[in-house]
Amino acid sequence: MPEAGDDALEDLYREVILDHYKNPRHQGRIAGAGAVGVDLQNPTCGDEIHLSLRMEGGRIADLAFEGRGCSISMASASMMAEALRGKTLDEAVGVSAAFKGMLAGGPAAEDSLGDLVALAGVAQFPVRVKCATLAWNAMMRALGGQTHDADA
Ligand code: ZN
Repeated sequence: MPEAGDDALEDLYREVILDHYKNPRHQGRIAGAGAVGVDLQNPTCGDEIHLSLRMEGGRIADLAFEGRGCSISMASASMMAEALRGKTLDEAVGVSAAFKGMLAGGPAAEDSLGDLVALAGVAQFPVRVKCATLAWNAMMRALGGQTHDADA
């Protein structure tokens, strides 16, 4: 249970999530040479996402999403797009592992996750974890790094 002193932090986190939900960053579709797109859904909540990205020189040169769903799923996609642009494949996999670790109750590594720590509270709601990881699973599929997907 959160302690009384955590209220301010929870309010801040809620604001960050709502901001990304209402003003999503990096919306759209990336087309053209080298672009990869993936559609993924989270049937438990009805979240849908189309994620597309383009690698260049070993880095994620561009990453964008379109979709609809709950605030957790859309905010997570927006924050992910912000966090992963410019990252190498290995770095992206590392951030994804840190994020999923946090959602499994692990530490919230603010230096690697940035705004994404706002979603730490989702760990307390296992059914919502699928909302938070939807964009990440789409990203991993787009990167071709993961074929099994327990959350889809
Ligand atoms: Zn959802």
